[in-house]
Amino acid sequence: MTLPRIDGSTQLVGLIGWPVEHSLSPVMHNAAFDALGLNWRYVPLPVPPGRVESAVGGLAALGFRGANVTVPHKQAVMPVLSSIVPSASALGAVNTLVIGRREDGTPIIGGYNTDDKGFVGALRQGGYEPEDGGNGVVVGAGGAARAVVFGLLWSGTGEITVLNRTPERAQALVSDLGSHRRWSPRLRALPLTPETLIESARAADLLVNATTVGMWPRVDGSIWPIGVPIPTRLTVFDLVYNPLETRLLRQARESGARAIDGLGMLVRQGALALDLWTNEGLAVGEIAALMRAACEQALGR
Ligand code: NAP
Repeated sequence: MTLPRIDGSTQLVGLIGWPVEHSLSPVMHNAAFDALGLNWRYVPLPVPPGRVESAVGGLAALGFRGANVTVPHKQAVMPVLSSIVPSASALGAVNTLVIGRREDGTPIIGGYNTDDKGFVGALRQGGYEPEDGGNGVVVGAGGAARAVVFGLLWSGTGEITVLNRTPERAQALVSDLGSHRRWSPRLRALPLTPETLIESARAADLLVNATTVGMWPRVDGSIWPIGVPIPTRLTVFDLVYNPLETRLLRQARESGARAIDGLGMLVRQGALALDLWTNEGLAVGEIAALMRAACEQALGR
């Protein structure tokens, strides 16, 4: 095995979150750097809650070119940045930092969010065109659900129902994103129950799981009631990617519905972040494909 080259010109990026040790991001980004012949390395950076400001200052001081940001820092990081692109401000979370320098050497730290475009790109690649105006049901109201709803609204989906176990969070998501006048008539929030889910899905074309339900190690979990067929007209997208085939996706396939796994979104948001850092106008689809191969290998497929 050849060890990666690390020398005086190696550029660094990383992932700040808590915890980060199970993340696939180092695997996929380092595989992409190797394939592209870039002397860059991506490292996991565990940052406990409450320490994000000093962590970001440290990254800038150490000459990092950027970072990804994950749970629980996607919102907490926002006040410490020099600028935030309007889409990340509108959806209320940042998942990518780009660190540049002014002429006097002081750092400028820009905040971006690539989750929404990553989701929409993976959805299209899976064969679902959001601009056709179909209706969506999104289960969950955390940071990932915000990116999903934002991406769907931008790309022209029809009506979106947001269901969440804690209904106040679904309501807050709808109020925040619905503050855009054009969007509010297309959004509604409901508490998550088997009945509201089945009823909402009946009038929908797309069902998205943006909760942690079904994620390793609780792989038997599913947001969809066991034993109830999933309507065949639905496209079912599960953001969970470990395991790749979740129980929900098995239910979808067994019912004859289209199933899309969460790895496509993970690698696309990663490829978009890599393109922001390196600014080389890379082919995002090709990078995503090679990142996917690296992740599948790491997941043992
Ligand atoms: P988060 O902010 O912690 O939100 C978690 C969501 O899951 C909340 O809506 C929560 O409901 C819900 N939930 C948790 N346990 C539940 C249960 N037993 N029954 C019903 N709902 C439950 O997390 P996040 O960042 O949004 O991430 C959500 C999922 O998306 C995770 O699985 C994450 O790995 C995945 N994700 C994937 C990608 C990708 O690229 N594929 C990107 C980002 C996230 P309450 O509000 O009621 O607690």
